[in-house]
Amino acid sequence: MTPTAAQPTCPLPILRTVEELRAQVAAWRDAGLTVALVPTMGALHEGHLGLVRRARERADRVIATVFVNPTQFAPHEDFDRYPRDEAGDAAKLASAGCHVLYTPGVRTMYPEGFATAISVGGPAEGLCGTFRPQMFGGVALVVTKLFLQALPDVAVFGEKDYQQLMVIRRFTRDLDIPVRVEGLPTVREADGLAMSSRNAYLGTGERARAPELYRALTAAAEALAQGGEADGALTAARSRIAEAGFGTIDYIELRDAETLEPVTRVTRPARLLAAAWMGKARLIDNVPVIPAG
Ligand code: AMP
Repeated sequence: MTPTAAQPTCPLPILRTVEELRAQVAAWRDAGLTVALVPTMGALHEGHLGLVRRARERADRVIATVFVNPTQFAPHEDFDRYPRDEAGDAAKLASAGCHVLYTPGVRTMYPEGFATAISVGGPAEGLCGTFRPQMFGGVALVVTKLFLQALPDVAVFGEKDYQQLMVIRRFTRDLDIPVRVEGLPTVREADGLAMSSRNAYLGTGERARAPELYRALTAAAEALAQGGEADGALTAARSRIAEAGFGTIDYIELRDAETLEPVTRVTRPARLLAAAWMGKARLIDNVPVIPAG
């Protein structure tokens, strides 16, 4: 069997230190293999496994990372109760064809005396950047560290977190990090709800109402694609989301698909993005808006 045809070993090897990770990547490089990285916070679902499958198409070897990153959570947020399931995650990753799980501890990523931050602007401004001001700096820090630890050829992220994907593309370019960043369309449940580890926070009734966020976005996107003006379409979507039983709507906004700058009418590819609370769960979703004709 040639190295490129090798099947992932089962059970999945689990690496916990930068040294182990670098040794593994060096061995693959010596064998002439390419490497893909799939960063996650665990509690894996089909959306994450979609990233792994895409990564397998793009490289010979796939590393998934699981790290619930404290620097992207504010003190009042759900860092402590974020779902964690290492054994379940490892089994799912092995079944999706992942080769290695890298799951460093907090002290490995942020040793005593750690004193560095990354400041992000541009696509990090507004939207989730307003409601979770610490988040994208924390994401930039951890993703930069993971990129420099693994030095993969390519890394795959989900469009589910569209603003995050644009922030990652931006700082990867700005910092000359030699990693290709690839986005995967959002993987959804049969009723349209975007898969998310945080869907576990939804009660049964809430779960039944949650897909209305996606439906409202889709309806508004259709109106906007036909040349409709943003105010009317967004007001209609807001009402529909509120009527479905969502509480606070953090935002629902139309942005340029590439720069994420605000847009009032769609003349080039745009993105409609929203964040809203259903009970204790803050759900985010977004859809493309492609001008008709
Ligand atoms: P998380 O574990 O939620 O931090 O997400 C890790 C990666 O999985 C990010 O790149 C997310 O955008 C991606 N992801 C999460 N949910 C989905 C989904 N439903 N479809 C596609 N990608 C997703």
